[in-house]
Amino acid sequence: MVTESLESKKKRALEIIRRLKKKFPDAKIELNFKNPIGLLMAVILSAQCTDKRVNLVTPALFKKYKTAKDYANANVKTFEKEIRSTGFYRAKTKSIIGACREIVKRFGGKVPNQMEDLVTLPGVGRKTANVILGNVYGIPGIVVDTHVKRIANRLGLTNHEDPVKIEFELNDIIPKKEWTLFSHLIIWHGRRTCFARKPNCADCSVNDLCPSREDVKQVSVGLKSRGGVTPPLQVRSR
Ligand code: SF4
Repeated sequence: MVTESLESKKKRALEIIRRLKKKFPDAKIELNFKNPIGLLMAVILSAQCTDKRVNLVTPALFKKYKTAKDYANANVKTFEKEIRSTGFYRAKTKSIIGACREIVKRFGGKVPNQMEDLVTLPGVGRKTANVILGNVYGIPGIVVDTHVKRIANRLGLTNHEDPVKIEFELNDIIPKKEWTLFSHLIIWHGRRTCFARKPNCADCSVNDLCPSREDVKQVSVGLKSRGGVTPPLQVRSR
């Protein structure tokens, strides 16, 4: 078994980014929001739910709740009803109201701009924190959601299953200035081409850089067994 070097992974990742930028020049976060607190709330709502569904629910919330204090003072039962269609509404209500109470109490009503502060809020892990840092404060962060986890594995950029380990491994491979956009590009790629159940490898602009490209049925097996094998790939421009 041959292990791909970090340098080779970096080179391949840069080419993947270049091609995905070309394919998805408008890649950005697909959750709608009006202010930092609105984004934090939307990201919590998006757990186990599509961004499309969240975007249907948030306009009414944005009208009614404008500040962290508004969410902190929300009536629990009313709020549960308002977000019910996003699923897991009790836990999400608890997280959103709980996080906003902390934001009011400890951060003067402002969504914090530090990872170590964000992750102390109820319902906020590194994934949500990186969404906030990257999309509100312009602080680079790799968002390891279900798409990034799946596709980073398929692309052979990691063989971890744990999102935090994946994030740290990708941090070493991807240039810091690209971290936020890399996340958007991979998420767009996952929603439009590299689908979870049936990736469209024939229409994939990075298929010659992907060790999982040949037999789609082997992908899930390959994730467990590949263990960092060097893919027989040549970086070439498209
Ligand atoms: S070749 Fe297939 S598995 Fe690999 S990134 Fe493209 S769509 Fe995904």
